[in-house]
Amino acid sequence: PSALREIMIQVPNVGWSDIGGLDDAQMRLREGVELPLKSPESFKRMGIRPAKGFLLFGPPGTGKTLLAKAVAREAEANFVATKSSDLLSKWYGESEQQVSRLFERARQVAPTVIFIDEIDSLAPARGGGLGEPAATERVVNTLLAEMDGLDDMQGVVVMAATNRPNLLDPALLRPGRFDELVYVPVPDAKGRHKILEIHTKNMPLSNDVDLDYLSENTERFTGADLEDLTRRAGLIALRSSLEATMVTKENFEKALQETRPSVTPEMEREY
Ligand code: ATP
Repeated sequence: PSALREIMIQVPNVGWSDIGGLDDAQMRLREGVELPLKSPESFKRMGIRPAKGFLLFGPPGTGKTLLAKAVAREAEANFVATKSSDLLSKWYGESEQQVSRLFERARQVAPTVIFIDEIDSLAPARGGGLGEPAATERVVNTLLAEMDGLDDMQGVVVMAATNRPNLLDPALLRPGRFDELVYVPVPDAKGRHKILEIHTKNMPLSNDVDLDYLSENTERFTGADLEDLTRRAGLIALRSSLEATMVTKENFEKALQETRPSVTPEMEREY
C-alpha cells in the first residue's frame, strides 16, 4: 500500500495587506522571491542569480506560513505546502520519492513557491528527528539534491519554516541552499495595532473599542494570539445575546482576561 500523498497546488488568497508588522521580512521577500518570480528576465539581464531557499524562523504563530502564502500570491505563483511529517514515510525509499514528486510537480506548474513547515524535524542537526536517522538523512540529501538541481530560471523557490533554528542540520544553510535567513519576530505595539486592524476589519466595533489601548496591553502576543483575542471578543458579544450588533470594549476586556500570550520571554530570547 503506497503512502504517497497527493500534492495539492494552491493559489493562496492572502496578500501583503493581510499581514501586520513584519516590515523587514516583507521587504526581503518582495525583493528576494516576488521580484525574481515575476521578472526573471530582469535578473538575467543583470547577471544575478536569485536566491533559491529562504528559511523563515521565529516563535510559533508569528506569521511564517502567512508570509509564504502572501509572497506566492503577490508573485502570481502557485503554492505547494507540505510539512516534515507528511514527507516522512515508514516505507523504504518512499520519503525520498515524495520529495522528488514535490519538486517535479512544482516545476510543472511554475512559477511555484514550495513551503516546507517544521523543517527542523526533517533535518535535525544530530538525530532526534521524526524518523530513523539513516532515513531522515536520505530525505535531507534528496531535498538538497533537488535544490541544487533547480535551475535559476525555472521559477521555483523553496521556503521553509522552523521554530527551532538551532536544531537545524547546518548542511541546509550552505550557499545555494537555505542561504537567506528571515527572522519572523513577535510583533511590537505598532505591529500589534496593524494586526488588530486586520482581524477586526469585518467586525462591527463599537466606538469605545480602543485599538491603541489593546495593542499596548498585549505584550508578547503573536499574530495568532491577537486573532484569537478578536475572535473571543466576538464570541463573548454573541454569548450575551445572539442579537448583538456590536463588539464592545467590555467584550474585549473580558477576552483579554481569558487570553495569554503564547510566547514567554525565555522563548523569545532563544532567537
Ligand atoms: P507555526 O510556526 O505555528 O506554523 P506560523 O508562524 O506559521 O506558525 P501562521 O500560521 O502564519 O504562523 O499564523 C497563524 C494565524 O495567525 C494566521 O493565519 C493569521 O490569521 C494570524 N497571524 C499570524 N501572524 C500574523 C500577522 N503578522 N498579521 C496578521 N495575522 C497574523
